[in-house]
Amino acid sequence: MRIIKKVEEYRNFLDESKKMQTGFVPTMGALHEGHLSLVRKSKIENELTVVSIFINPRQFNDRTDYEKYPRNTEHDLTLLEENDCDIVFLPETEDIYKGYNGFEMDFKGLDSIYEGKYRPGHFQGVVDIVYRLFDIVKPDNAYFGKKDFQQLAIIKLMVQQANLPINIIPCEIIREPSGLAMSSRNQRLTDEQKEIASNIYKTMLKIKESVKVGESCDKWINFFEKEINNFAFLKCEYAAFCDPETLKPIYFFEENQGIQLCVAVWCDKIRLIDNIFLQL
Ligand code: AMP
Repeated sequence: MRIIKKVEEYRNFLDESKKMQTGFVPTMGALHEGHLSLVRKSKIENELTVVSIFINPRQFNDRTDYEKYPRNTEHDLTLLEENDCDIVFLPETEDIYKGYNGFEMDFKGLDSIYEGKYRPGHFQGVVDIVYRLFDIVKPDNAYFGKKDFQQLAIIKLMVQQANLPINIIPCEIIREPSGLAMSSRNQRLTDEQKEIASNIYKTMLKIKESVKVGESCDKWINFFEKEINNFAFLKCEYAAFCDPETLKPIYFFEENQGIQLCVAVWCDKIRLIDNIFLQL
């Protein structure tokens, strides 16, 4: 496993490796099984697997969240080595943003709903770094978790608008046995809080199993909020039903409809997101 820290070093390496089909997994580190499932998928589907670890300050709308974001590069490198990762790219903020102001895209409103509404500037920050990383790594395939459902939709849109020759590969959400979606931020929860936070998924499952054609989505949004807010530590920020492709809000359940339920819930001071697919 080779570790590359400088953009220039990566550019030189690219000259040597150009012919290899490359899979890329961008991360912010504090790696867990969710990240590693992406790495393993890339290993199967490509000749070369590149993982980047970079905590991108531009995508944090909350300074405390940035400062307290878990950092453990040594452990991350051990996990990547164990999973046969080929290249780890570990850039520094100054180097990666040098001479680059960001990528201007038309979000078509996707940056101001759901996550975008509560995290102003977040998606512009995500697009800025992913575009830049794509330009350096030049992957054939890039792997993103469905855990960040809206991010995935926005990255697909970015690739389309920038006309990049990169396949965006969506990957399933990896969960704890309790159902809690794995997340680097879970490290900041106590064991008790993790157990309680598993009710986010359990409540979404209840909804998945109960919704009926003709019902209003509002009814189930209220149900989710009420159930969640009854648990210690938990506070629902939003729950929304939307089209899985366009992310447009859905108001009523119709026959044969596929719907994504996306939620954000605070567990004490930690903000957690999750989503689930419903087939009517
Ligand atoms: P992050 O380090 O949080 O920026 O995540 C890096 C990538 O891993 C993103 O594409 C995430 O969607 C993905 N990811 C994070 N958690 C999970 C999970 N529990 N299951 C699957 N993918 C995940």
